[in-house]
Amino acid sequence: MTMTEHGPLVDLRSDTVTRPTEAMRAAMARAEVGDDVFGDDPSINRLEARMADLTGKAAAVLLPTGTQSNLVALLSHCQRGDEYLVGQNYHTYFYEAGGAAVLGSIQPQPMPVQADGTLALDTLAQMIKPDDCHFARSRLIALENTHGGRVMPREFIGRVRQLADQYGLSVHLDGARLFNAAIASGQTVADLAQAADSVSICCSKGLGAPMGSVLVGSAELIKQARRWRKMVGGGMRQAGIIAAAIDHALDHHVDRLADDHANAERLHAELSVLPGIVEATVNTNMVYIELESREKGLALQAALRERGILTAGGQKIRLVTHLDITTDMIDRVVTTVADVLS
Ligand SMILES: *Cc1c(COP(=O)(O)O)cnc(C)c1O
Repeated sequence: MTMTEHGPLVDLRSDTVTRPTEAMRAAMARAEVGDDVFGDDPSINRLEARMADLTGKAAAVLLPTGTQSNLVALLSHCQRGDEYLVGQNYHTYFYEAGGAAVLGSIQPQPMPVQADGTLALDTLAQMIKPDDCHFARSRLIALENTHGGRVMPREFIGRVRQLADQYGLSVHLDGARLFNAAIASGQTVADLAQAADSVSICCSKGLGAPMGSVLVGSAELIKQARRWRKMVGGGMRQAGIIAAAIDHALDHHVDRLADDHANAERLHAELSVLPGIVEATVNTNMVYIELESREKGLALQAALRERGILTAGGQKIRLVTHLDITTDMIDRVVTTVADVLS
């Protein structure tokens, strides 16, 4: 824990900032390891089998980051000249440096994301291109659950699956925070993964591992993903220490995501009534507060930073709860924001 003169640093910028706990570090230190590119790392082999089992898929592969996991999924589903249909604010389009286009010659077909994080089904259907030499070959639909903390409605995912089947497309789900979605909705991760052909899960966010993402799917898809992973430089060697951290997280950090959601609710309830905050929303572990202007948003963030509280955004500020955020910290954030705004 980093100390400031105002108490422990409260880092609400993202749930990626969590640090491995002592118990997680001990589990990492004990890990049995081998060369994973040779398939020899027992900790990784066990973890991949566990994730495949948990998500109800045939196979899994560990990758260093979520961005690489999504990239490798897109490369495994699509050929050069294919396209994927995607929300224009989804990570797989907006936040991955154009990797699918740059490295895969895969054309994105972005479309607006609705307020609930879903895509309009009629727009999606219109954007699927017929088999005609003028067009890229529509091949894949990319979804994201949770998106901005929002859990995708189950019915929507089912409808996307139907559409995909109708047009012979595959579905990739960016489930960076799929465990948050499961805890918040009472569904299992297997329920949430069921309609997708592949799912990418981040372990370095709310789960609290220092790094690592797992891609799950059919045996054939994951076989291809292993080749792409090697090609993009993600073939790690004695990464069983990472698998051990993730294994520890699956044992100890899944149910407690409910605490992060409760802290986010608490933060939202207290902040939403403060004068100067024009809008506040909460979904799973993410709170967004909107100020009257960008200047006011930036000024609030600067004042909070001086008081040992880190946030992200501009006029709209994002506050993310996670493993390293306690309820006491939430209360300190509330009193500090109230103090700065008054
Ligand atoms: C964080 C995140 C990823 C992966 O990001 P990395 O920084 O590469 O781990 C993918 N999708 C979503 C929605 C994310 O929030």
